[in-house]
Amino acid sequence: MAQNLQGKVALVTGASRGIGRATALALASEGAAVMVNYASSSSAAAEVVAEIEANGGRAIAFKANVANSDEVDKLIAATMEKFGRIDVLVNNAGITRDTLLLRMKLEDWQAVIDLNLTGVFLCTRAVSKIMLKQKSGRIINITSVAGQMGNAGQSNYSASKAGVIGFTKTVARELAPRAITVNAVAPGFIATDMTDGLKADAILQMIPLARYGQPEEVAGMIQFLASSPAAAYITGQVFNVDGGMVMA
Ligand code: NAP
Repeated sequence: MAQNLQGKVALVTGASRGIGRATALALASEGAAVMVNYASSSSAAAEVVAEIEANGGRAIAFKANVANSDEVDKLIAATMEKFGRIDVLVNNAGITRDTLLLRMKLEDWQAVIDLNLTGVFLCTRAVSKIMLKQKSGRIINITSVAGQMGNAGQSNYSASKAGVIGFTKTVARELAPRAITVNAVAPGFIATDMTDGLKADAILQMIPLARYGQPEEVAGMIQFLASSPAAAYITGQVFNVDGGMVMA
């Protein structure tokens, strides 16, 4: 397989589990050195690093809450100190705090916006300074079908993910003159801890391909956008990996 990220560095937020974990492994398979960010699962993050190293790659794990500006600065500083550059940023870390609008507490609203939207802003702002100097870079933001079509019980999450789409398009325009691409990937229902425990029957009826996606299927799209020479002319777009749920 071509190793398009040989000598390059990728930072993946929320890479200890689920889609982020699969993405870290996929980018490492392209030759990238990977910064594996996590919030609390230190042993899971260490396992991702160990798996990358066992395959001959380079990675380190770093604990940082990416909703916190100071912790983001430390994450970026640690990445630069260890690897010296950042070529790929995958803004993947995300949470849900689901409940219907009338029952939603301000804390539930704020926690989701703070991580899913403000966290994307903080990481992108910090990394874009480095990419602007390098005059290259690829940024991939993980949004959701919920940000495109809405989902009852997820007003906070849908708003955060719709915000990520607007942010992606604007930043894509701002960074395009320096050959930095910015795209979003919109998963549907993917089998991770986030969707564990959801009622499967009702969900499967909404999915034309009639199954949950696997984290590796989302990571495949991220890998293409992050590493393929063929993706150099793609920016400001949203790519659905959702079994056909959203057909624009
Ligand atoms: P997941 O399995 O719940 O994993 C979430 C990851 O985010 C973990 O690595 C977690 O770290 C990390 N994280 C949580 N809070 C963080 C914080 N404050 N700072 C840094 N990292 C933090 O989630 P997933 O299903 O893989 O989802 C990944 C992304 O895809 C999210 O943005 C999600 O909204 C989006 N998405 C998922 C689906 C789906 O069906 N699963 C669908 C559409 C979109 P710890 O392990 O340390 O807690």
